[in-house]
Amino acid sequence: VTAKALTGLLRLASNYHAPVRRSIQRAVNREVVDVSAALDRHLGERSADGFRVFMDGYYSRNMREQLQKQCFPIFQAFLKDVRKEASEFFTPLKVDVGGKTVLKLLETEELNELERWMRGYLNGFTNRYCSSSEGQLLSLVEKFNKSPDELLSHLHERLEEWKEKRAEKLASDEIIRSENGMAMQTWIKQGVKKFKWITGPKGHHCPFCSAMNGRVIKSSENFLDSGETLYVKKAEGGIVAASVSASGKKGVEWLFGKENKGGEGWSGLKMFGDKAHPPIHKGCVCRIVPAG
Ligand SMILES: [Zn+2]
Repeated sequence: VTAKALTGLLRLASNYHAPVRRSIQRAVNREVVDVSAALDRHLGERSADGFRVFMDGYYSRNMREQLQKQCFPIFQAFLKDVRKEASEFFTPLKVDVGGKTVLKLLETEELNELERWMRGYLNGFTNRYCSSSEGQLLSLVEKFNKSPDELLSHLHERLEEWKEKRAEKLASDEIIRSENGMAMQTWIKQGVKKFKWITGPKGHHCPFCSAMNGRVIKSSENFLDSGETLYVKKAEGGIVAASVSASGKKGVEWLFGKENKGGEGWSGLKMFGDKAHPPIHKGCVCRIVPAG
C-alpha cells in the first residue's frame, strides 16, 4: 500500500476543511461574545475572582454545549465518510464468497465500537478546546493580575486573535487527527496489524516528520509514547536524521545509525500524550497506511 491509496481520504480531508472551519468559527464567535461580556461584567469592577468563577462554569458547560451544537454534526459526517473510505480501499480485505470477491463489511458490533471511538474523539476535542481556552485566559490573569488595565487589553487582544486565527488552525489540526484516528480504528477492525507513517503527501516535510516517514509499528503500539522526545538534525547532503529517546524502549539506530550520536545541531520535539498516529505538531499533515 502506498500514499496513492490515500487519495480518497485526502480528498475527504480537503472537502471537509471549509465546513469544519466554519463550524469552529461559529463556536469561536459565540465564545468571544460571551467572554467579552464577562470581561466587562467582572473586570470592569476589577474582580479577577469573579472572572475565574465565570470561566469555571463557562468552560465546563456552556462552551462544551456550543462546540457540540456547532461542530459535532460536521465532524460526525466527516468521520462516517472516512470510515467508509478507509474500509473500502484496502484490497486484501476483500473476501472470496462463492467464487466472487466482495468487500469484507464491518459487523454491527464493529460499527458500534467505531461509533464509540468517534464519541470519545469528540469528547477529547471538546476537552482540548476548553482547557486550551481556559488555560490561556487564566495564564493572562495570573501574569497581569497587578495591573487591571493591562490585563483587560491583553485579554481582548487574545480574544481577537482567536477570532481571526483559531478556527483555521484547529480545523487543520483536528481533521488530520480525527481522519488518521478513524482510519486506523477502521483498519484495525478489519484485521490490519501494522501501520506505516507517511510524511505529508502534498510535500510538506518538517524535519521531525521526515524522520518519522516510513516508520512501521504494530497496531498495539504508539509511534511515539508520551514523554518521548524526537530528535532531528540536518546531516551532510541535506539529509535529516532523528532519534527517539526517553523510555529507552526504542533504539536510535532505526534512523541514523550508531555513529551519529553527537549532541551538536540536534533539535528536539517532546511528545505530550501517546502518538498512535499523526499529528505530532501544529501543522503536521502526515498520514498512516496499513503495512501488514
Ligand atoms: Zn507530520
